Amino acid sequence: MKIIRKIKGMRSFSERLRLKGKKIGFVPTMGYLHQGHLSLVKSVRPLCDVVVMSIFVNPTQFAPDEDFTRYPRDFKRDKKLAEQSGVDVIFYPSSEEMYKKNYLTVVKVKRITEIMCGKSRPTHFEGVITVVAKLFNIVKPHIAVFGQKDAQQAVVIKKMIGDLNFDIKIIISPLIREKDGLAVSSRNSYLSDYERKDALVLYKSLIFAKKEIKNGENSARNIISKMEELIFQKKSVKLDYIYIADPKTLEKVDIIDRRVLIALAAYVGKTRLIDNIIV
Ligand code: AMP
Repeated sequence: MKIIRKIKGMRSFSERLRLKGKKIGFVPTMGYLHQGHLSLVKSVRPLCDVVVMSIFVNPTQFAPDEDFTRYPRDFKRDKKLAEQSGVDVIFYPSSEEMYKKNYLTVVKVKRITEIMCGKSRPTHFEGVITVVAKLFNIVKPHIAVFGQKDAQQAVVIKKMIGDLNFDIKIIISPLIREKDGLAVSSRNSYLSDYERKDALVLYKSLIFAKKEIKNGENSARNIISKMEELIFQKKSVKLDYIYIADPKTLEKVDIIDRRVLIALAAYVGKTRLIDNIIV
């Protein structure tokens, strides 16, 4: 497995592969790899010749009061896991390499970044979209894979790809959970034992909502308030939002008469977790 730290090196590597007619699959991550990340590699592996994974904790998607400096990092471990899972190249740039001194440009997707996670993290998606656009220009992939775990991010990236005519196929890979249902996340490592137990209520509330819908409940408002009741019982959990929407457009749904995305975000202690389900 190759490790490339410089933009110039990554671009010329990809250029050579493209000249040879090789298909490049791309898995962007912030590292501290877990089963969720590795499942993305598995999804893209059969569709391409070379798998490039980026590991970059992108400072511009964190607000000043968020966890950028304490975000978990372990490159040695990541290297091992990436290699075992079939990654061919890790693109591992520094912040200075990605954002030169006079950096001024951002890419912004309107409207759908102002709801859900965008409400409490108003600068987050601008940071994500900009770095993803930069990574696409550096890695030059044919296919890129993102996780359904970040449902809003997936929709926003697809929108950017379409609107800006990037010639890249986007694949969304299923959400991976721990055995007990908690969505796998690098941020789960922040949770105390007590918080880890309380955090399960997020998945449980989604399963509860699914059952309610199957039993005929079709009012989004009723479902949300019943989910809130469940979540409010856990002392360490502070709900940010529950949102029921069209999975493709994120348009809010009031009466559930088609497939819907039920997405939520909550603070468990100081850790912000997200989860979702499609019903
Ligand atoms: P991150 O390192 O958290 O920025 O995540 C990198 C990629 O992995 C994103 O496309 C995420 O949606 C995806 N991902 C993270 N956790 C999971 C999970 N539990 N299941 C599936 N994909 C995930």
